[in-house]
Amino acid sequence: MERIQGLHHVTVMASEPQANVDFYHRVLGQRLIKTTVNFDDPGTYHFYYADKVGTPGTVMTFFPWRGLKRGRVGNGETAAVAYNIPSGSIGYWRDRLQGYGVLTEQPFERWGSMVVPFADPDGLRLELVANDAPATIQHWAEGPVPEAHALRGFHGVTLNVTRAAATARVLDLMGYEMAGVDGNRTRFKGASNDIGLYIDLLERPGEAQGQLGAGTVHHIAFRTVDDSEQLEYLEKFSRAGLSVSPVRDRQYFHSIYFREPNGTLFEVATDAPGFLYDEPVETLGTALKLPSWYESQRAEISAALPKFEIPVVTTDA
Ligand code: ZN
Repeated sequence: MERIQGLHHVTVMASEPQANVDFYHRVLGQRLIKTTVNFDDPGTYHFYYADKVGTPGTVMTFFPWRGLKRGRVGNGETAAVAYNIPSGSIGYWRDRLQGYGVLTEQPFERWGSMVVPFADPDGLRLELVANDAPATIQHWAEGPVPEAHALRGFHGVTLNVTRAAATARVLDLMGYEMAGVDGNRTRFKGASNDIGLYIDLLERPGEAQGQLGAGTVHHIAFRTVDDSEQLEYLEKFSRAGLSVSPVRDRQYFHSIYFREPNGTLFEVATDAPGFLYDEPVETLGTALKLPSWYESQRAEISAALPKFEIPVVTTDA
């Protein structure tokens, strides 16, 4: 069995769909590559943002519920999502974000890389991590951010945990290796792939569990190469005493889910079939896509969803 290849996607709760699209597609320059609905609740959108084609490890997804109250970040939750940026792009990003009214906090150094923290419109903590490590992504050339400064996939995520050892055992099952300890932060590194490699555990005994709501992460998903390996992981997790869901068809990937011992929802998703499954690369994200089992209800589903516009973008000089 191959070690897990890193992060596949991160899924977050949001409030206003338009604010979400404006921020990720226009401000961060992450292409809206799929407009669909929550397969478990077709009254809600599911937006996917990524590089040009939806390379696993670049994909951030949102369930935007208009009017949803903010959640509270606590233990058993993802505390921050970090993207890679080139090391010379810190000034570009601080200026760009400020130009859109998004204030960044003072950059600081963590394990030799500068980190720029800020928040999305719902208060989700994001970090830009400056580093020039290889990042295999497909740049969205029609996007607003020139390639020299564009985000280069996920660096990783930080999870708030009560007991790091319990989550570390699950990461060990997936082939993650400990890569560093700094105070109450322990870093784990995934295999093979060059983006979405890091899981940091922030141990905070005695802190309250989080509360799901706008601006909090619903789950994080890890990459596995194919269906047969996913089944091997399903068995491995089950043997380790984790309660794992059956395989679910998410149209663009196949998924299994379980809660790790500190409470964060983990998913293991296949790379295939991918986001070009139901539309060509040129028009990704521009039309509402529904899985076959909802197609017969397209008119009703579409009418009930809030309207939004995909912002027109031009590339910065
Ligand atoms: Zn997912």
